[in-house]
Amino acid sequence: MQSATHNPWERAQVQLARAAKQAETDSFLAARLREPDRIVEVSIPIVMDTGETKTFRGFRVQHNNILGPYKGGLRYHKEVDMDDVKALAFWMTMKNAVVDVPFGGGKGGIVVDPKMLSEKELESLTREFTRKLVPVIGPTLDVPAPDVNTNPKIMSWIVDEYSKAVGTPSPATVTGKPIEKGGSEGRTEATGFGGSYVLLSILKKKGKDPRGMTVAIQGFGNVGSFLAYALKEAGMKVVALSDSKGGIYIPDGIPDIGAVQTCKESSGLLAGCYCAGSVCDLPNKYALGVRDITPTEVLELPVDIVVPAALENALTEENAPRVQAGIVLEMANGPTTAEADAILKEKGTVVIPDILANAGGVAVSYFEWKQNTLGEHWKKNAVLKDLKKLMESAVDDVYETSERHAVTLRDGAYIV
Ligand code: NAD
Repeated sequence: MQSATHNPWERAQVQLARAAKQAETDSFLAARLREPDRIVEVSIPIVMDTGETKTFRGFRVQHNNILGPYKGGLRYHKEVDMDDVKALAFWMTMKNAVVDVPFGGGKGGIVVDPKMLSEKELESLTREFTRKLVPVIGPTLDVPAPDVNTNPKIMSWIVDEYSKAVGTPSPATVTGKPIEKGGSEGRTEATGFGGSYVLLSILKKKGKDPRGMTVAIQGFGNVGSFLAYALKEAGMKVVALSDSKGGIYIPDGIPDIGAVQTCKESSGLLAGCYCAGSVCDLPNKYALGVRDITPTEVLELPVDIVVPAALENALTEENAPRVQAGIVLEMANGPTTAEADAILKEKGTVVIPDILANAGGVAVSYFEWKQNTLGEHWKKNAVLKDLKKLMESAVDDVYETSERHAVTLRDGAYIV
């Protein structure tokens, strides 16, 4: 059981109530946003490889569709906390509105440990789940996408099954498909690169030169790695990276992110990967402060910017007082608890909120849906150029709104 303030759904309610008050939102709209429009729960019986029949539970939370079809991921996980899923669906509604794409918010999944299933069982489960969802999903109704433990292959099974059920090819039913099945170029990089466009745009507004600024990133997965590449490209010093087991700190800047990634892929761990590339040639590396760090220490280093890019509730009342960075770029969903948020505000730390910072992924999902709808395929350069424009425009809206209302960027984003 999570404490009230670590419960994302309760936090979402507080965020909504505050923004609705600041924006003088009419009570009917606020009520429409307060609860999901609909929660669909389905039973999914499948025949296992052993011949026995097992029934799983699946669901879809459709939070809001004022701006367009419900949109959000499907996760396959053995423990599904409905409050988490409701909060994630709510944040999708907010995120899509902030980047001004014509989608509402949704989230869903199946209560299952997919690692315990054979590929055949996983496919049967996905196809039966899709058959149950046919009446409530579709290109103009609700457009799912990958999330925890789901991937492009699972998305292509969903498209296939949905298309069979409605009797016509419907690639725009889900996003995050393999490129050869109608997926978009640039989707893999989108969230990390999108976060870099947001950060650089905010630094520009604040009159700060990014070159030489130091960054520590918690989480070196899809999002953290592409962000690291992009920020280094912009002249920043990425000094620390971490994964769930530990990380590395090179105060002078990690010279070669690609070498660290190769090292992590081969050893399975980030710790020790500072010896990748030429850094180990430095005879006095310990004197220079090069060392392994713990997964939590990464957020407390003496840097200009910290980036939680791993899990929710990474910054709490316990560690927020020790954050030294002046800027927190929230790439994970919900990485800062309400208490931590208040502490950071008090300290004058600028928090760039998740619903703005990590919206690059859903922005390119929108481009995928649009390409499918128009029967087009866009080049990666064109996708990334459009992504940059869209993210910068979202920053303009959020920044201007937060200045006008004299509130934080988070409150500004909710007001938008
Ligand atoms: P991922 O699974 O590729 O990577 C997650 C990384 O976090 C891994 O390196 C993992 O080792 C690390 N990690 C896990 N627990 C940790 C801990 N306690 N301390 C430090 N590191 C830890 O996932 P991802 O796709 O990169 O997503 C990261 C976050 O960004 C999630 O919160 C996700 O919801 C959010 N997000 C992702 C996307 C996207 O397009 N992938 C879009 C929006 C938001």
